[in-house]
Amino acid sequence: MKTLKIAIQKSGRLNEKSVELLKYCGLSFDNYKSSLITSVSNFPLEILFLRDDDIPEYVQDGIADLGIVGENVIQETEVEVSYLQRLGFGRCSLKIAVPNAHNFKDVSELNGKSIATSYPVILGKFLKEKGIKADIRTISGSVEISPGLGLSDAICDLVSTGGTLKSNGLKPFTDVMSSEAMLIGRPGIEIEELVKELIQRVQSVLRAKETKYVVLNAHKDHLKSIIDLLPGVKSPSVVSLAEEGWVAVHTVIPERDFWDRISLLKQAGAQGIVVMPIEKIIL
Ligand code: ATP
Ligand code: ZN
Repeated sequence: MKTLKIAIQKSGRLNEKSVELLKYCGLSFDNYKSSLITSVSNFPLEILFLRDDDIPEYVQDGIADLGIVGENVIQETEVEVSYLQRLGFGRCSLKIAVPNAHNFKDVSELNGKSIATSYPVILGKFLKEKGIKADIRTISGSVEISPGLGLSDAICDLVSTGGTLKSNGLKPFTDVMSSEAMLIGRPGIEIEELVKELIQRVQSVLRAKETKYVVLNAHKDHLKSIIDLLPGVKSPSVVSLAEEGWVAVHTVIPERDFWDRISLLKQAGAQGIVVMPIEKIIL
């Protein structure tokens, strides 16, 4: 059988989450920090550990069939790959930031200014769309120190919490793109059976992460109003308890409106609510 290759980041912000996702997909492999390639023992897959910047091109050229990398890197390298699945981690935004003292109101005020960035392609497209002519200074790292050193008027860099900007006397001015980790494949690969199988596994892990398993107790008199509040995969399971008139309700609840729903359930008469993580949901 054909063996697929997937490229993931060797070390850095996406490495741990990428390894964790593959492990949750039931793939069994050794994750030696020193190795460049490792084999999965229970699926025809090899894992290549690379610098994130190289992943899109490796996938485009078919050296790797699949890859996990930030959208920012994919767009900056301008490759042709298939976007197979958003992965919900590595979230960040590419923002233009300016020194705190600046009172820029409108992006047009960037006209004639210099902007330091490691993302000249994405920034160039953004400025062109806005009709702004600015001087893009490409630097490969520590972009945030360049205004302080007098190398540029502004920067365009990845931001997640904004802490690095703050500690360098900068403030976010405008968003250029938002990004998260993405499963990509060489063009057209999504029709291959093995790839479909892998995507399904990834989706079942992601679905599980977005939901919690909830068990609660309630008196039968409250059951209808409690069930009305539950989304569930289909409908909740209701199990009789030893105590006459009482039931346990088992269901799954989306993470995003979890606390709102729990407080509504309590108001409707739910008691002894137990919440558990889910490993996988296979539809
Ligand atoms: P490599 O050694 O593989 O080239 P790197 O230093 O270029 O690594 P990292 O800093 O590890 O890259 O970031 C990898 C990816 O993590 C980014 O391309 C981006 O998609 C995502 N990311 C999430 N939050 C942030 C953030 N605050 N700053 C930078 N990248 C972030
Ligand atoms: Zn990199």
